[in-house]
Amino acid sequence: MAHVRTYSSRPVLTVNLTALADNYKYFAAKAGGARIGASVKADAYGLGAGIVGRALYGAGCRIFFVAHAGEGKILRNSIGAKASIYVLSGNTPQDTAIFFGSKLKPVINSLTQARDWVKAIKAVNHAPRTALHFDTGINRLGIPAEEAEVFADDKELIAALDVDLVMSHLACSGDAEHALNESQLGRFKRISARMPMVPLSLANTGGIYLGAKYHFKLVRPGMGLYGGKVTTQSDKEGVKPVVELHAPVLQIKTVKAGETIGYDGSFTARTDMKIAIVSAGYADGLPVNLSGSDKRIVTSARLGKHRVPVVGRVSMDYTILDITNYDGFVELGAKAVFFGENLEEQAAHARTINYEVMTHLGARCRKIYVNE
Ligand SMILES: *Cc1c(COP(=O)(O)O)cnc(C)c1O
Repeated sequence: MAHVRTYSSRPVLTVNLTALADNYKYFAAKAGGARIGASVKADAYGLGAGIVGRALYGAGCRIFFVAHAGEGKILRNSIGAKASIYVLSGNTPQDTAIFFGSKLKPVINSLTQARDWVKAIKAVNHAPRTALHFDTGINRLGIPAEEAEVFADDKELIAALDVDLVMSHLACSGDAEHALNESQLGRFKRISARMPMVPLSLANTGGIYLGAKYHFKLVRPGMGLYGGKVTTQSDKEGVKPVVELHAPVLQIKTVKAGETIGYDGSFTARTDMKIAIVSAGYADGLPVNLSGSDKRIVTSARLGKHRVPVVGRVSMDYTILDITNYDGFVELGAKAVFFGENLEEQAAHARTINYEVMTHLGARCRKIYVNE
């Protein structure tokens, strides 16, 4: 059986660094005078924080956000000493040495973190500066309203923290009509007015689309940089897709009418069928909810110019495609493509969100970074 000259069974995640840089420039333009602080937590949403961080740095980015100190250390080693790296979870007792060693800035989310940090920096000469993160209504991590009063009144504590950014985070920025946006904006303005005169930041990707009054001095896009759509009006989002999952065809076979396909026999061939076994499964981040059963075909992959349905259960390493109606010749090693410009659609097919799909793609796939 003919096959493309050389191929591996290992699925490939392609990350388009040119599209990434273009998305960076798109948000820089959209945010007007505001600076960009790129969210590269969770290994840059699964795409590889080292290389993605360097590419963003190359595009001009000098401010980064990660979730944990360990992520910050990896990023620091990749992008060098000049950029600011904020750790969104803030300082935790076990990680203090990493903050100092890698010059990471903690995002202070509570009085406890503030007091711990002030205690810890007594022992060092050049402590990193900090950000204050106020909870203005998301009711997730962040300084709650009653603690905000204590910060506002404690000038000594504020001085010791050497704050260089005051921020908050929007809960519903993907929905421009949601009342919480205005409410959080109002609370953020009130609390930040009582803080030192430092740059302010409120907007994640969705917040950037809400318009100039949400931009302040710094915006914090994540998903948008990686080509993801985040709002209820996705046709207005001018980002380019960055990520595709390529699953090579390992085998082609015919199945007789009446036979079942895959685990649990959840799909029955109604006619004689031709199927392709492709090399990517849920261990590669392909959601098991994309499985096609007798009840319902859920999604399809792109093979050449065609869309071919996923039939049977997505398994750990393999997925099965119906190529009965494919009118061309399918070579072994040919790539079945998932996500790309269909990321949101396929995440919806899997009954999840593009964020979750993307962060799960990096674990086993070989990552190939392309510039075009
Ligand atoms: C994850 C995160 C962001 C980035 O959000 P996106 O929706 O990916 O743009 C910004 N700020 C905070 C505090 C975050 O946790």
